[in-house]
Amino acid sequence: MSSDSSAETNILPKKDMHLRKYSLYPLFLTALLLFSSCLFAQQAKIHFTVSMQPEQKCFLVKMRYRSNGKKDVLFKMPAWTPGYYQIMRYADQVQQFTATDTQGQSLLTEKKGDNGWIVHNNGADIEIQYQVKATRKFVAANFIDQTMAYLSPAGIFLHPDGEIKQQVLVDILPFAGWNKVATGLDLVQGSNTTYTASDYDVLYDSPFLLGANLEELPSFSVKGKAHHFIAYQPGDFDRNLLMQDIQKVVTAASDIIGDIPYEHYSFLAIGPGGGGIEHLNSTSISFSGQGLNNRAARNRMYHFLAHEYFHHYNVKRIRPVELGPFDYDKGSKTKSLWVSEGLNVYYENLILKRAGLITDEEVLTTVQQQIAAYEAKPGRLFQTLAASSYETWMDGPFGRTGDEVNKTISYYDKGPVVGVLLDFRIRHATGNKKSLDDVMRRLYYEYYKKKGRGFTEEELKKEIEWVSGQKMDDFFEYIYTLKPLDYKTYLAYAGISIDLTPKKVPNFTGLTVTVRNDSLFAGNIEWQSPAWEAGIRRQQHIMEINGVKMRSLADFQQLQQQWKTGEQISIRTWVAGTMNNALFTIGEKEERSYQLSIDATASDLAKQIRVGWLNGTVDK
Ligand SMILES: [Zn+2]
Repeated sequence: MSSDSSAETNILPKKDMHLRKYSLYPLFLTALLLFSSCLFAQQAKIHFTVSMQPEQKCFLVKMRYRSNGKKDVLFKMPAWTPGYYQIMRYADQVQQFTATDTQGQSLLTEKKGDNGWIVHNNGADIEIQYQVKATRKFVAANFIDQTMAYLSPAGIFLHPDGEIKQQVLVDILPFAGWNKVATGLDLVQGSNTTYTASDYDVLYDSPFLLGANLEELPSFSVKGKAHHFIAYQPGDFDRNLLMQDIQKVVTAASDIIGDIPYEHYSFLAIGPGGGGIEHLNSTSISFSGQGLNNRAARNRMYHFLAHEYFHHYNVKRIRPVELGPFDYDKGSKTKSLWVSEGLNVYYENLILKRAGLITDEEVLTTVQQQIAAYEAKPGRLFQTLAASSYETWMDGPFGRTGDEVNKTISYYDKGPVVGVLLDFRIRHATGNKKSLDDVMRRLYYEYYKKKGRGFTEEELKKEIEWVSGQKMDDFFEYIYTLKPLDYKTYLAYAGISIDLTPKKVPNFTGLTVTVRNDSLFAGNIEWQSPAWEAGIRRQQHIMEINGVKMRSLADFQQLQQQWKTGEQISIRTWVAGTMNNALFTIGEKEERSYQLSIDATASDLAKQIRVGWLNGTVDK
């Protein structure tokens, strides 16, 4: 694959250079270029200029708006950014907001709601200036220091109310000595600082990474499309190997859908950290190459990269109808993030296998871990998969925290588990002639390509039923109800056995503790454990256990080491000004391994389903 990659680049020098110019451009100005960009600028209705203020940890933003006589114009900052389904309150980071007309005369401005400003212009064209604080290095936030800047565009650029479809020009002026700007946006022809976005949806989907020593890793092409990886402080690792492997990921992922819809794609790596956000032709990722020579760490990073890459299909193009047009003020709620995020986690695993980067055993181990992670949380008995999607705006990206019992689940946990069951169900129902891949392709070609929109919940079910050739009401209970997942039946479709035998773990109390100021407090109390049933809850002050005063972790551990199933424990706690006594018996815990194994006695069809699933094939 490595030699193929360089050959592809070499036989397409012109095209590759052309594309590289857009995504990563060395900055040199000539009078001619500057002149032509000014000409273009004069024609634009909305034109931004963003300059860097690293000492103040700010971006300085200037916006020119041709009003065409419109009065009292309302400008708004989105409250969130697509891909990160949380209210971010970007407008809170805006300061020093002023507006003038084109003659420099001050205009009256007025804050409107949480994220808007009205400019009283009396019909004149408007020039707005403001600073954006940029102190959080995170893919959904803004950051600047002396060495680099990351612009999360929904938190930078104001839009005139009702004009989301307006074309926008953006001049990015790097700090002195910074040599590179990386973004998915295209440069205006003839300019090297002015980028164009066909509308605000595209602009808000196109972050910028710029800095002094950004590194471009070796590019590659897949199906004639250039792929770039631009990184800030990526660390010490084998650049060529990583890029060869990412090329395999891109090839395997794009083989599932069979079409690459963009002209060029960029991975924008903002440095070590956590998280990634997908865009139409780029992804912003936290990245460090350190540790890639450790198999487990490498697999985690590859899962992450495959996930972010596959999102350019799944969620950016194959999407629930609610995710576009976006409600930038309130957020766009959908019950289908189990598809957009959950199935994306499911596909990471398959893409890496089909790319030849992980083994069959590693695929099964990941499925097993996903099942165990989901089954470990009591939230599965309280919140449906559809609700976890809809309520993520209130609950947080991975479910709610701080409850006595975990009453929420994460679509990142249950989604991939439902994905594997659904895929096996479709393969079984069709005699291994169709798979979940067919559903994804149908959603891509019928909805994104033909209809130019997302799918409704009803349409999603209809398409799954169409591909499967059977009703799926019973399956959709896994999405909309709390029905327990029938692993045995579904995994058997692919000749895979699961060990559901409960094993008894002795000496179980469910009690954990923390120490604060020489006092012992209850930590997490496992739901329905002996300690839970006796009324012990998180944060309760534990005074004594079995008559022994508790002042340190050592006091507790000394006792705990001797505990045996069947023994009585008495705990004195101090709760809200009263002393309580709790009494319980040390018990046993039931645990399941969810170990997966290949069933050698399974039918030929089941075997074919497993092989087809792992290799991305179906039977004719
Ligand atoms: Zn994701």
